[in-house]
Amino acid sequence: MLIIPCPHCGARDYTEFRYGGDASRPRPAHGTGTVNEWHDYVFVFDNPKGIHREYWQHVQGCRQWLVVERNTATNELSRAQLAREATRT
Ligand SMILES: [Zn+2]
Repeated sequence: MLIIPCPHCGARDYTEFRYGGDASRPRPAHGTGTVNEWHDYVFVFDNPKGIHREYWQHVQGCRQWLVVERNTATNELSRAQLAREATRT
């Protein structure tokens, strides 16, 4: 069972959230980039084993976007924070 600690709502089951993709890669700025750069950003991604930074949206709660650090092998969460406050590290 995967429980995500939403900073606004507290610990909630992952079924209240929507996965939003890899949070470790920078998104090209709006209005910039080539078709190939956007294609790679949207459709090409790694499938890492271990700690991974991911976007999750609390769609059945506060609707905030979070950045969650999750171990993809064990589903253990090491960190969850609001995306607007997250830093890329
Ligand atoms: Zn929430």
